[in-house]
Amino acid sequence: MKIHEYQAKEILRKYGVAVPNGEMATTIEEADAAAKQLFSAGNAVVVVKAQIHAGGRGKGGGVKLARSLEEAAVYSKSILGMQLVTHQTGPAGQKVQRLLVEAGSAIARELYLGLVLDRASSKVVFMASQAGGMEIEEVAHENPDAIFKEYVNPAIGLQPYQARALAFKLGLEPAQIGEAVRFMLGLYKAFIETDSTLMEINPFITTKDGKLLALDCKINFDDNAMFRHKDLKELRDLSEEDPLEVEASKYALNYIKLDGNIACMVNGAGLAMATMDIIQYAGGSAANFLDVGGGANQEQIENAFGILLSDPNVKAIFINIFGGILRVDVLATAVVAAAKKLNVQLPIILRLEGTNVEEGRKILAESGLKFEVGATMKEAADLAVAAAKGVN
Ligand code: GDP
Ligand code: MN
Repeated sequence: MKIHEYQAKEILRKYGVAVPNGEMATTIEEADAAAKQLFSAGNAVVVVKAQIHAGGRGKGGGVKLARSLEEAAVYSKSILGMQLVTHQTGPAGQKVQRLLVEAGSAIARELYLGLVLDRASSKVVFMASQAGGMEIEEVAHENPDAIFKEYVNPAIGLQPYQARALAFKLGLEPAQIGEAVRFMLGLYKAFIETDSTLMEINPFITTKDGKLLALDCKINFDDNAMFRHKDLKELRDLSEEDPLEVEASKYALNYIKLDGNIACMVNGAGLAMATMDIIQYAGGSAANFLDVGGGANQEQIENAFGILLSDPNVKAIFINIFGGILRVDVLATAVVAAAKKLNVQLPIILRLEGTNVEEGRKILAESGLKFEVGATMKEAADLAVAAAKGVN
């Protein structure tokens, strides 16, 4: 689960991690009031920041520095409601529905801090780099040595000596090391206690008067842990998420929308991954990842069809089922009923294997509907690719 920068900064504040003062605004009036307050508190600069669930806002024109109330108002008006395009939003961009209006900082250095769950070592890795304010993926690709790492032993947590080592590698002043260590320990505590999977401070800045601040903050939470964080769950902003994915999550379907035109309906995440691979291998492209789970019933299959059919890019539906817990005849009955009920006109290609597969094939054959069944995964994928191209 993703949250906005202003929400992430609110969390950091609770953990004693320094962030600029600021207010979230959903209207021009709120933005004006926040700017007025910050200017009258003695700030020379106020920053107007678009709040969307994507990075790269600065380059896209979603972060502006204002030196007067009038200037702040001009920026708020232009950013609020704009369709902000960044390298993370895709070409259509994301509509800006909220702003963060905050006190401007006099930046001395832009650094980078990041925490992420490293699956290879089964540990949280704490990363730091002097190359802050730019895309860290690019730094990792072109100059991986510029990213310093400390792996955290989960039993004892981040140790002060590890934070100190990173602080020295960042080239901080001796007088800043103690504060940097407290900053990093605060971040680690926030990361663990909120069950985060990613926390990024980019940039982590030093100011001209020697202070340390989180100027930007991105946090992702572990969806599987949200049941024990009712307060964090409320931070979810559904308007930032893909509407089909939101719909699918209501039915406990594991659905991720992709750019291709062959819809997939599969039981099991591993098989779903293999299905996307084989579609690609056969020369096509998947419109989605969809795992209907092991215990899918007719209602669940109907919901899944509904979601797949609401994607206008979809030209064919590839159902790839290995009957284990889910029996193939039960699945076939559900597919026939759902296809009839929803009057599915698109070609449906199936590959079925496992428990009661013969009964399943018979149900499809006798349904009166036109299904294509591939004998193997590859054959079914070829059929699906051809169908999506309108070849047969
Ligand atoms: P992102 O582009 O979505 O990552 O948004 P950021 O919050 O990281 O802002 C982008 C850039 O704007 C930062 O790297 C800074 O260079 C600049 N910026 C943001 N806030 C301030 C500020 O208070 N003062 C100054 N001088 N620059 C800022
Ligand atoms: Mn940033």
